[in-house]
Amino acid sequence: MLQRLRFPVDRSLGRRYPEPEHSYRNAFQRDRDRIIHARAFRRLEAKTQVFTPGLSDHFRNRLTHTIEVAQIARTVASVLGLDEDLTEALALVHDIGHPPFAHAGEQELNRQMNRFGDRFDHNIHALRIVEKFEQRYARFPGLNLTFEVREGMAKHSRDFAPGEIPQLDEYLPGKRPPLEAQLIDLSDEIAYNTADLDDGFSAHLFTAEQVATEVPYYAGIYETVETQFPGATARERFYEALRQLIDALVSGLIEGTVERAAQAGVRSADEVREWPRRLAACTPSAAASSRELKSFLQRHVYSSPVLDADRRRFIAMMAELFEFFLEHPDRLPELYRETAAGQPPHRVVCDYIAGMTDGFFRRTYDQMLGAMPPRP
Ligand code: MG
Repeated sequence: MLQRLRFPVDRSLGRRYPEPEHSYRNAFQRDRDRIIHARAFRRLEAKTQVFTPGLSDHFRNRLTHTIEVAQIARTVASVLGLDEDLTEALALVHDIGHPPFAHAGEQELNRQMNRFGDRFDHNIHALRIVEKFEQRYARFPGLNLTFEVREGMAKHSRDFAPGEIPQLDEYLPGKRPPLEAQLIDLSDEIAYNTADLDDGFSAHLFTAEQVATEVPYYAGIYETVETQFPGATARERFYEALRQLIDALVSGLIEGTVERAAQAGVRSADEVREWPRRLAACTPSAAASSRELKSFLQRHVYSSPVLDADRRRFIAMMAELFEFFLEHPDRLPELYRETAAGQPPHRVVCDYIAGMTDGFFRRTYDQMLGAMPPRP
């Protein structure tokens, strides 16, 4: 459908350190494979998405969430005729910079950095991981990913003007990323809204009827399911409706992007870059339903007492551990201190904590500060 806007892999701006071509994998396929083999990618398995493990073994973690985003984004790229390898590489890497304990962890690290006039941003941290902290090659630091993958990471959440984020100035500020990269944030949103609905239902935070009452888009789907499957259990009805909801949102992203590209009249990947707005978009009704879902999840899941109590506990522990390492830099592993040499102390501590899995954070806290405060 949009083959003309596909980013041509042979026009990639290439790698920071030039490498010979592979005999049968192109540059974006190699990037995807490098990401899958990275340590930071494997650590996603032990990082919280929304629900901390311990309540159930069925909830998403950041790795299974990442696989769901990749599956959605690849489907959309394939239907639109875009580069599936670039899309998949970007989806697989999109959460690699997340610290332990999800957004609460990110906010707390940022709060700690603000004390020093600095900040923590998970997208910028992700770039530091793939450029610096992953050490797998003898000839260069990091994974030496192509420009387009690094650019897509830099622009995951938003585009920026020249000079607005000085450390990202090499990534074509003022221009749009390739359409493949534009799909990731929207696929992420579809994946987490529907997954959090699923996990929240499993955690008995609400019923399917409540969703239908408060999310009009879901109500239409749920009503059809009730007529289609009158004998189904509440759980079966919920899952039937959830599947149809994912399908409708993904279709909304495909249609919305086709419509916006047609209105813009862009004809090539170069024109995608130059267009003043992003072209990847949901149809207005799919976008409205995402907003409804988000506010439902905010009320019933994200602010639920069980998640809130966990959040407060981990924020307090993170602040304590941050302070501990600032005061006792000698307790950081020697190898890590060598890698981080020359950075200001607060940055060294921030990077160290940001790389931790939830499990490693708990063990480190236990080792340095004694037994964790109990679950309230
Ligand atoms: Mg994500």
